[in-house]
Amino acid sequence: MIKIINKKLLNKIYRQIKNYKTIVILRHVGADPDAICSSFALRDSIKLTFPDKNVYAGGVGVAKFKKYGNLDKIDYEKINDCLLIVLDVPNMSRIDGIDNLKYKEILKIDHHPKLDISASVEWVDENKSSTCQMVCELILNTKLKLDKSIASNLFLGIVSDSERFSLKNTTVETFETVINLLKVSNIDFTSLYEKLYSRPFTEYKFIAYITNNLIIDKNHFGYIKISDDVLKEYKVDVATPSNLINNYNFIDDLLVWCFITEDIKNNQYKISIRSRGPIINEIASRYNGGGHKYASGAKIKEMQDVDNLINELSKACLNYENKEN
Ligand code: AMP
Repeated sequence: MIKIINKKLLNKIYRQIKNYKTIVILRHVGADPDAICSSFALRDSIKLTFPDKNVYAGGVGVAKFKKYGNLDKIDYEKINDCLLIVLDVPNMSRIDGIDNLKYKEILKIDHHPKLDISASVEWVDENKSSTCQMVCELILNTKLKLDKSIASNLFLGIVSDSERFSLKNTTVETFETVINLLKVSNIDFTSLYEKLYSRPFTEYKFIAYITNNLIIDKNHFGYIKISDDVLKEYKVDVATPSNLINNYNFIDDLLVWCFITEDIKNNQYKISIRSRGPIINEIASRYNGGGHKYASGAKIKEMQDVDNLINELSKACLNYENKEN
């Protein structure tokens, strides 16, 4: 069996879930496969284990993630005193769908650095590859049940957030968890990759656009400002650049890179940042953002602040290189 650091905590989480008749599961705004798949997997596992419970996975729907499952319509008027489970999100302001929800307690499971959510039971571990890895460990080590569809979502969330086991957040424990998941569920995992990676040809042309227009400065910092017109030209949405930014993980000339995407609907710039050395989440947090040490994001209103961020990230590269050499 996998080596579990805190079996007691997992049992405590299981007991808390068991105690509630109504459970709402929410994750971060701007959902990604880890957030989506962890909430569907945990919802479906709780429903499978306790068929009499009312369990809902909420948040704003994303059309391209429909292939992982369906979100639930939550009647906020009718729900009282539920257990709110928050997955893959460290701060209250980024919980998608929490407004007007009447909950009694919060259970939190997350792999981001801890911020302002205070939960009665919480499992926060920055060393986990993904929230899906944590939900998987929870299910495999308690009486929560698993079926093939739940296992498939967990596998996809882990693969996606670890970028196919290539990012620094991948550990021996990640592989152990996945091996156990595959052994127990017997899913046909190679056929699942298509769900994560198949995309229209226009998106490949958009990747070429980014590659051709990425500016790389002398400090090995790369950035691109992507206008709404360009998004329209390539028929991609404002979230697409964030989904593509890991494609640039293994480029020798890049230490930190940042995609700045115009989001006209919200009158702001959506920022995605990745790093192969300097810690970037502290910088992102000064620009209405945050995230992991080497994978962060932000939302910025003014172009002047975008330019300040660009300067700070470039300086971080310079300082890092000076320290390393
Ligand atoms: P992304 O580049 O959108 O994939 O985001 C990378 C990481 O940064 C994820 O862990 C996000 O949850 C986090 N993140 C993205 N945008 C923000 C933001 N505006 N505020 C805080 N964290 C963010």
